[in-house]
Amino acid sequence: MTKEKPAGRIEAGYKLRSTSVRYRLTMYFILFALVFTVILWLLQTVFLENNYESAMEDKMQSAVNLLSASYAETEELDIELFVRQIAELSTENDLYLYIEARDGSFTISSTDEASPGKLYYYGRGGLDLARERLAASDGKPVTLKLTNQAGDSVTMVYAAQVESRYRANIYLFAFAPLTPMGPAVGILARQLLRVTVVSLIAAFGIALYISGRISKPITDITRSASRLADGDYDVEFYGDSYDEINKLAGTLNYTAQELSKSDALRRDLMANVSHDLRTPLTMVKSYAEMIRDISGDNAEKRDEHVDVIIREADRLSYLVNDILALSRLQAGVDVLQLEPVDIQRSAAGVLETYRVLEEQEGFRFEFVTLPQTVMVNADRHRIAQVISNFLSNAVRYSDESRNIKIEFQMEEGDIKFSVTDRGIGIGEQDLENIWDRYERASSLGQRSKEGTGLGLSISKEILERHAAKYGVESRLGEGSVFWFSLPILEEQT
Ligand code: ADP
Repeated sequence: MTKEKPAGRIEAGYKLRSTSVRYRLTMYFILFALVFTVILWLLQTVFLENNYESAMEDKMQSAVNLLSASYAETEELDIELFVRQIAELSTENDLYLYIEARDGSFTISSTDEASPGKLYYYGRGGLDLARERLAASDGKPVTLKLTNQAGDSVTMVYAAQVESRYRANIYLFAFAPLTPMGPAVGILARQLLRVTVVSLIAAFGIALYISGRISKPITDITRSASRLADGDYDVEFYGDSYDEINKLAGTLNYTAQELSKSDALRRDLMANVSHDLRTPLTMVKSYAEMIRDISGDNAEKRDEHVDVIIREADRLSYLVNDILALSRLQAGVDVLQLEPVDIQRSAAGVLETYRVLEEQEGFRFEFVTLPQTVMVNADRHRIAQVISNFLSNAVRYSDESRNIKIEFQMEEGDIKFSVTDRGIGIGEQDLENIWDRYERASSLGQRSKEGTGLGLSISKEILERHAAKYGVESRLGEGSVFWFSLPILEEQT
């Protein structure tokens, strides 16, 4: 079987591929620069002429409107003033203004008849055409563009009819030369070409720089992730100065940490399991051999040996159960099923299973409860497991004095559960460690073969998951108090 290379491995060296961030960013920048220059081109060249013409038309329209207002609405028209206004508007706006009465009785123009000026330059034909259009326009103003015969000059004409209550109705014409845009557009086009080239080069450069800065941390992270995939849990992820990439790096660092923990757990578990299973298995095997070779015919001895085998098999099964429970808890597979639990009732239930020891082995259990029912938020089965672990330890390490006290008390708004024995106690040097896996008090020596060394670490795990306070007070040779306390959810008397 060939081992396939995991997908997504980073290749040595760096190739600019069309799907890479770098390539895409560069392309987007160039596209942006292109769109930008195209818009500039359109505005500066194609629309330039239109803009110019509509500006010109606006200018003519407002001059004509001013004049028609003066003419039509002034009751006593000062003709000299009116002519001056025409002349002023004409020079200010570079227009030729021409007024004629509709009945042909008079004309006024911004140049006098003696030097017919622009009007003749544009040609009389233009005036006739504008008048014709105006007559057909239903009283609305008209705009037209006239090209001279040589085809090298264009004139814009704006014409309106003016009706007045006070005097003769008139036609008002405004003429303006339209400067050809061709040369201007040519100059602009040349300039724009330069702008286009410069902005494309700049876009390319900036894009390369920025995309390089963005893609570098991603490439680094990919490289580190690939090391992580190879089992290097010490690898560190750096996110540079980008928030999003920093978050990713943070998550990956956390992942690496958790992976490393669970890997350590797995190795630890394998080592412990193989070590712990070997002892009882060896016992089972040697006693079975003993029955086969020696005690097979001796009923008494054989029963004794079979008992050992049964006891060791039981121990094996406890061990396996405990190891499984702890691993599942630690790996987070088992989720707590929190619900309101009558904690005193739970403890009474657990204690019930231990009552048999009172008759069989002379134990005495003192059970002190509170008068009221106290509910706590807990996982019913797991909390019962902790109570049972404390109780079985008290029984196991009780020594000669077989009095065990199980007590509920109120403490700072919490309910405190404790199991007190007058047993062998725990030395100070061991007090901290007994909650760890497979830790047993050094004073025990070979004494306890029954326990698995996992009970307290399972209890610790469960209590921590409940955010409970817990602890032990103990003195060597005097006995121990194991306790935990939980916040009260509800009290009923
Ligand atoms: P074990 O299966 O060995 O009892 P535990 O995790 O339940 O494992 O307990 C760890 C160790 O803590 C025990 O081996 C023992 O040394 C000590 N211990 C626990 N409970 C008591 C107790 N009530 N009195 C004295 N020592 C105790």
